[in-house]
Amino acid sequence: MSHNSPVLGHQRVELRFTEALKQQRMHHAWLLYGMKGIGKRMLAERLTGLLMCDSHNDCGECHGCRMLAAGSHPDVYRVGLAEGKRDVNIEQVRQMLGFLSLSGSEGERRVVILDDAERLNHQAANALLKGLEEPSAGSVLLMVCADLERLPATIRSRCMLQQCMPLAEHDVRRILDASLMEGDNKPDVATLELAVELAEGCPGMVASLQDKKIADALLAWQALIAQLDHADIGRVDEWIRQHVGIVPHALIVRTLLAPVYPLLQQQFDAASFTAAELLRSAAHDCARWPADVVRSSLRAAPTLLAYVLALRSAIKAMPVDRTT
Ligand SMILES: [Zn+2]
Repeated sequence: MSHNSPVLGHQRVELRFTEALKQQRMHHAWLLYGMKGIGKRMLAERLTGLLMCDSHNDCGECHGCRMLAAGSHPDVYRVGLAEGKRDVNIEQVRQMLGFLSLSGSEGERRVVILDDAERLNHQAANALLKGLEEPSAGSVLLMVCADLERLPATIRSRCMLQQCMPLAEHDVRRILDASLMEGDNKPDVATLELAVELAEGCPGMVASLQDKKIADALLAWQALIAQLDHADIGRVDEWIRQHVGIVPHALIVRTLLAPVYPLLQQQFDAASFTAAELLRSAAHDCARWPADVVRSSLRAAPTLLAYVLALRSAIKAMPVDRTT
């Protein structure tokens, strides 16, 4: 992505931020929250670009913009969940607060991007709260959070809350069309369509489709289960065993359930109500499978196969008249 391209889908937040900058009423802590995969982190980078640009428009030319582009801006600090860790810990927060409190020259801005804020552990959150109560002059904290409920209310109440929404389909399509390029080639139509459908407004959720092996595997999966009530269970079983360790589980489930949701959106008469409830429950089990596997250490492949079989039976039991 070029340095000064806008971040698609979050223009409202960007506008509000720009207004605050112009009016010199910049809040010292912004909390960007919303679903995973919608570009909150990229938005935080974009806002940082606006802040650090000499003319506050992310011009790409000035000293501030150039240092930022080179990844060597001394007044920008990034922190978040470290690879393999469960929490953002107190040591990370202390270092971050230390960075913010370093006295710079007058009018100097310091920016911290705190990613994965929902993963702050209890101690780290307390330390952050202290920092929010006594902000350093000229410092701006941009927090990125995928689960607002997991942040203490005391922290939330000290931040400028900005909700980020899932993106419109045309923005998702533009982003994926660029991000799924294979070298200089556009992604093939089937892959792009699948990616747009599975993204459900969150292009980051399907980033793994950049790996052609995964994209092809999912296309094969989509074809296999398109008519689940007629699907060849031997081949379904084989696909699951071969791919359950490679393809992200959330994408397996999204592909599996995409043709099921329209069935559930029909009007049901009393006679078919029970069948619909069964189908809803089977779909729910499938949707919960990725979490179940993690939480209960279930063996992924046989569990998924069992859920797919239950889903298949439930589809077969649905009334035959599917007018839509
Ligand atoms: Zn600039």
